[in-house]
Amino acid sequence: MLDDLRWLGIEWVEGPDRGGPVGPYTQSERRRHYLEAWRKLLDRGLLYPCTCSRKDVAQSAGAPNDLDDEPRYPGKCRPASGVTQLRVRETADPAVTTGVNWRFRVPDGEEIRFTDLHLGPQSFIAGRDFGDFIVWRRDDVPAYQLAVVVDDAAMQITEVVRGADLLKSTARQILLFRALDLAAPNYYHCDLVRDAGGLRLAKRHDASSIRKLRDLGWTPEQVREGGKAGRREGKIGSGDPRRLCGDGRLARPRGEHHHGTNLQSPACTIFSFA
Ligand SMILES: [Zn+2]
Repeated sequence: MLDDLRWLGIEWVEGPDRGGPVGPYTQSERRRHYLEAWRKLLDRGLLYPCTCSRKDVAQSAGAPNDLDDEPRYPGKCRPASGVTQLRVRETADPAVTTGVNWRFRVPDGEEIRFTDLHLGPQSFIAGRDFGDFIVWRRDDVPAYQLAVVVDDAAMQITEVVRGADLLKSTARQILLFRALDLAAPNYYHCDLVRDAGGLRLAKRHDASSIRKLRDLGWTPEQVREGGKAGRREGKIGSGDPRRLCGDGRLARPRGEHHHGTNLQSPACTIFSFA
């Protein structure tokens, strides 16, 4: 991924390859920070263990109303408000309870508002637009929502650029920032590029990755220009790789999504890497 970014002509001043003042920059080396946040949320009565499987949740939540988002958790394992969680509170590590997901209790009915730098004012209702979400996974790693909040705060990120499919996640993350007494960054959500069939480009749809175009002999300029052209048209034919990618390649960020930081590129860019 770093290699692909470099190839595209994007430079950065901090990162896993060159260090910096707020490292380490590799997620697997940051467990201590995530645990600290988990503990704080637990102490504040905002977490509870959930034993539901993904299938349980999908079934009881019914048909998803938003394909870009996870199903709303129906609250099966949610304890009554104010109930302190069992013995788990005595432990210092979620690993002790391996096999459960830890969920964040959202303030039902509260409106979460923020102004997106690209899409303008946004509003989501906690408990309606999204439910209690996972912050620590049953396989004992922090979930995306918690990891990015902890990292953004620790790394003093001021602006996050990513795809519009993450708008609701921004509302979730704002709740986490608040619960942890941290300042949230500003957000710029890019329009998603969709293929001719209306599906957003994502790896699982076999959209061309930057690496693939590179292997096909494209130059960085072609990739960047191709992306712009596709974006203007609002639609990209999946059969024509010359019109994919570049700064229009706004696929769903994955685990190691590029998430703001110090990229010195004005382009609105979230790439997917092979
Ligand atoms: Zn549950």
